[in-house]
Order: sequence, then structure tokens, then C-alpha cells
Amino acid sequence: MLQEVKIIFEPKTFVDIILAALVCDVEISGLAKVEKSGSQYVIYDEPIIFKQACCISRTTFDETAYMLWQEKMVIDGTHEEIQKARLWWHSHVWAPVGFSDRDENTLDLMGQDFDWWLALVVNKRYQAYMELREYKPRILSGVIIQEYEFTQNISRGDLKKLLEERRGRMELIVKEKVNVLDPVADDDD
Ligand SMILES: [Zn+2]
Repeated sequence: MLQEVKIIFEPKTFVDIILAALVCDVEISGLAKVEKSGSQYVIYDEPIIFKQACCISRTTFDETAYMLWQEKMVIDGTHEEIQKARLWWHSHVWAPVGFSDRDENTLDLMGQDFDWWLALVVNKRYQAYMELREYKPRILSGVIIQEYEFTQNISRGDLKKLLEERRGRMELIVKEKVNVLDPVADDDD
């Protein structure tokens, strides 16, 4: 019944998402562009990281930041970008990578505007969990993604090298975009 879903990452996109989790002490989140053709999803380009405020105990998709970004894309005349940004990713820092109740709520909200989303959770232990969610024409519960491919042949060694090459760059991005909140001052949930 289900076609086999194929997830193909551009190596730098994959590496940048892993790096975001590695270099950030809190639950950073962002988007990435996806080109879908049939049941094949190619994830490409640099991940989109909004300005955000996070603390260790929270996982939120910053909707205000997302709306501001959408607005900017429309003003810039590149609102095609909005349609493309269909992978939502975030870090659970050191915690397991399954979706939390809050993540499920976020996904329900995100499904109101689009017919599908890819959702990925990563952590500092190099773990990753990804699902494909379909909302229209009918709601399909998550398809768990077991395997990732890359747009080019790349060895573990190459990935590691790319990771080291791009680390400093991601450190700067995280420093600029992520405002770390004091968890004590932000425990109102
Ligand atoms: Zn989460």
C-alpha cells in the first residue's frame, strides 16, 4: 500500500543539523528545504535557523520566528522558499530522540498549513529519529524513517571531515541565533 519512502540528504545539510545539536547547549530547532518527487524526498541546502530563545528543558518550535521568516520571504519575493522548507528538525540535547507530547502538538499545528512534513529529532549522542507525517488528503500516522541516503557517495570518514570543517561556522550561527534562557526563570511552561 505504501510506496517506499526514500530520504536523501545533501551531506552538508545533514552535517549542519548534527552540528547544530553538537555545538548548542540547548534545544535548537530549525527547518530545511525538501524537494519531493513521488515518494522520494531530497533534503538540501543550508538549514534555516531562526533567531530563537531556548532553554534545556523546553522544546518549542518558535512560531513567531517562523512567521517573521515567512513574512521576510514574502517581502523578498522568494516565498517559494516557504513551500520548500518542509523538514522540521530540533535537538533534544542529551535526551532520547523520540517525539515528546509537545512535539506532537507542534506537528498537529504544522499540519494545518501543509499536506506533509518531515520531522527529525537529533541529540548530542549522534542519535536521530525521523518521521514523515501526512495530513492531506488524509492523515497518515508517522512513517518512521529507518535509512538515510546521500546525494553523493560519501564515506563515514568524509562525513566526519565535513563535520570538522563546518563546526566553526555553525558555532558562529548558533551564537548569533540562539539566546539561552535561564531555565529557572522560564519554568512556567
Ligand atoms: Zn522534541
